[in-house]
Amino acid sequence: MLGLMQEWPLLCHKILDHAARQHGNREIVSRTVEGPIVRTTYADARVRALKVAQLLERDGYKLGDRIATLAWNTARHLEAWYGIMGIGAVYHTLNPRLFPEQLVWIMNHAEDKCLFVDLTFMPLVEKIAPLVPSLQKVIVFTDAAHMPQTALPNVVTYEEWLAQADGDFQWREVDEHTACGMCYTSGTTGDPKGVVYSHRSNVLHAMIACMPDAMGISSRDVIMPVVPMFHANAWGLAQSVPMVGAKLVMPGGKMDGESIYHLLDSEKVSFTAAVPTVWLMLLQYLEETGKKLPYLNKVVIGGSACPRAMTEKFERNYDVEVIHAWGMTEMSPLGTLATIKPEYAGLTGDALLNVKQTQGHPPFGVEMKVTDDENREHPWDGKTFGRLKVRGPAVAGAYYGGAGVEQFDEEGWFDTGDVAHIDPNGYMQITDRAKDVIKSGGEWISTIDLENLAVGHPDVAEAAVIGIAHPKWDERPLLVVVRKAGKEPTKTDLLGFMEGKVAKWWMPDDVAFVDAIPHTATGKIQKTTLRQQFKDYKLPTA
Ligand code: AMP
Repeated sequence: MLGLMQEWPLLCHKILDHAARQHGNREIVSRTVEGPIVRTTYADARVRALKVAQLLERDGYKLGDRIATLAWNTARHLEAWYGIMGIGAVYHTLNPRLFPEQLVWIMNHAEDKCLFVDLTFMPLVEKIAPLVPSLQKVIVFTDAAHMPQTALPNVVTYEEWLAQADGDFQWREVDEHTACGMCYTSGTTGDPKGVVYSHRSNVLHAMIACMPDAMGISSRDVIMPVVPMFHANAWGLAQSVPMVGAKLVMPGGKMDGESIYHLLDSEKVSFTAAVPTVWLMLLQYLEETGKKLPYLNKVVIGGSACPRAMTEKFERNYDVEVIHAWGMTEMSPLGTLATIKPEYAGLTGDALLNVKQTQGHPPFGVEMKVTDDENREHPWDGKTFGRLKVRGPAVAGAYYGGAGVEQFDEEGWFDTGDVAHIDPNGYMQITDRAKDVIKSGGEWISTIDLENLAVGHPDVAEAAVIGIAHPKWDERPLLVVVRKAGKEPTKTDLLGFMEGKVAKWWMPDDVAFVDAIPHTATGKIQKTTLRQQFKDYKLPTA
């Protein structure tokens, strides 16, 4: 017997329809690339997205076409996403922090036909567009007054283009499994791989993200996604924020501490989300200026491990709740969030921080397990670590073009490439990337645990741990440190600080001081480059 409920396909444009109908006057505030702060509403955004859809169709784009965007978080970028999805085409976010050759590779792989771009990236587009034969048109997110001269063919000004439409258009009704978005993984090894979201997976992911034990957002929030739309689907916020009808604050291209603080304060932002590097800059600005965060209630921190000292500072000095989250582009991207279950409700102080330091527990819609290399599941004992595998309705089932098949098994599990353990209450803790974990005398050492500990030292700006070849133990940890400006901590200071806080055999064999640690385009420490840099390094213990 079948259920007798209505067919109501889960399509992304329904989110914007709902926002416009139920929360039509709610503001979308953007720091524009041109400079000024611009205010629109969900009602405006819907009309403009309909115009984008109408014009894309008029210009010959159709179901399944990949339409790239190379842009900061602004209302225009949001409208373009919804307009693209509204004709059954696929938004493809490009990360401007990638090398031009990587962008060319990705655009050719995806066969992008059209590109929406911010002014900031015009010089980059002039370099890469001629190398992408499928690209027919470039639409620059600006108005006539700010449009630069360019030698590129088929370039149009967004506002002039948009003015050609009346917005009298119906969203195209497509099957909910239709592709609507695409994002390539950062690919620290091998070629980047394309993750293809569907309308259904994006809508389900947005609903999952809103749940109280996930992001826990509502129409009463003022939400600023600092995490860019070009990084892992903006953690789903471009869908979940309009879904709940919260006021949306888009920070544009300025992520420095002062600019972020300015919007947090002037727009009374209650909820925000980004990677640790952004919060490092904000906290530094707050410390230098003595400013406070009276309106901010909650900050979600993920993308790489949130240092314990960061959680402590936000919560103790600024009374802002930190939610540590883990996810991947392949998971739309939310996987787990460290909200507090009743089992941990009574905890305070360091014991509570220990729980908040984990990557957290998965909401409904994410299944998770940890296995050994032979796929035997490890117990949830909070210490046995192994390969972290996941499945769910917003988890990739394959990569675009059939890449990376070895990461998917017959039972539908996706091997994340992360190494983790899970505690008896279901809290997962990442201990490493599978390719970064240090194997010392047959045992595994977590580089992330050591890095977290080292950055807790007041004179350390950033720390990374890599394995260095060792004649007896195969590999031993080397701690690489960037000192804070004006501070001169020594090896003895740092090792003394760490001693007693980790198992003795985990202690780094040496400390190297550097001016900078290399990062990937998504802000993660680039361990491959660092290992290359230290490939001839001799440990004093070797
Ligand atoms: P991306 O697809 O660029 O978001 O990268 C996903 C990867 O980032 C994961 O597989 C993890 O290795 C890492 N990652 C994301 N969030 C965290 C976190 N909270 N702690 C540690 N690693 C993280």
